[in-house]
Amino acid sequence: KKRIVIKIGSSSLTSLQGEISRRKLEKLVDEVVRLKDEGHEVLLVSSGAVAAGYRRLGCLSRPSSLPEKQAAASIGQGLLIESYSDLFISHGYVASQILITRSDFSDENRYNNARNTINVLLERGIIPIVNENDTITMDFLKFGDNDTLSAKVAGLVDADQLIILSDIEGLYDDNPSDNPDAELITQVQEITPEIEAVAGEPGSAVGTGGMRSKIDAFKIAMASGISSFLGKASNPDIVYKAAHNEAVGTYFSSD
Ligand code: ADP
Repeated sequence: KKRIVIKIGSSSLTSLQGEISRRKLEKLVDEVVRLKDEGHEVLLVSSGAVAAGYRRLGCLSRPSSLPEKQAAASIGQGLLIESYSDLFISHGYVASQILITRSDFSDENRYNNARNTINVLLERGIIPIVNENDTITMDFLKFGDNDTLSAKVAGLVDADQLIILSDIEGLYDDNPSDNPDAELITQVQEITPEIEAVAGEPGSAVGTGGMRSKIDAFKIAMASGISSFLGKASNPDIVYKAAHNEAVGTYFSSD
């Protein structure tokens, strides 16, 4: 039995129009259910609150200003959890919502309290769904969409594995959108400066910031002795295969 933290980015949960894709949500839930049926403990870190809420805010497309994003997230977070909850219930599992802020990790009392709460949920077979407290936190988008948060949560609950699902097969030795000859790196034993370099500069051009925050996340997980995996959310059975170490993607592990 493993304790597994799965992080999914909004790009892997949305349609081309930027709304939550029911099909993608169902695919993820089906994969989590498969692990639950095998007896594993699973915690989800899910983005997607803005995507789930912007239409009901009255926006025609995904808003770009921070107050509008946060207003959309305020509507969407509940709707997103409701969708997850309905899907999990139909398979006989209970989901719960945990909203977390980065400062929760620097206060010992709050840290211990969060850990105790999540432990109770996991031990009772419930699937906690964690998101950053988007409506309050100012800088939630600067930090790369829950990546480092998921690594901190994995450390908090002493997870056996962190699985990050994205729109790409794994970590490449160069940005594949600029370089068609970039090759997939299947195993990373240490986050060296070379590995950091292939992910690009932090906060630079669009697309590279996303991989950079993932590398930061894997660094955090490795420092806690947690092995990780990066793979493509849309690949069939990706979560199941990643948990059984037989997926195509990038494994991060120091042993
Ligand atoms: P998500 O929304 O799933 O968190 P992001 O879009 O933020 O994902 O980050 C993934 C993107 O990072 C990829 O689609 C790719 O364009 C870009 N990228 C930049 N450098 C690399 C690299 N070395 N290997 C893989 N992807 C990279």
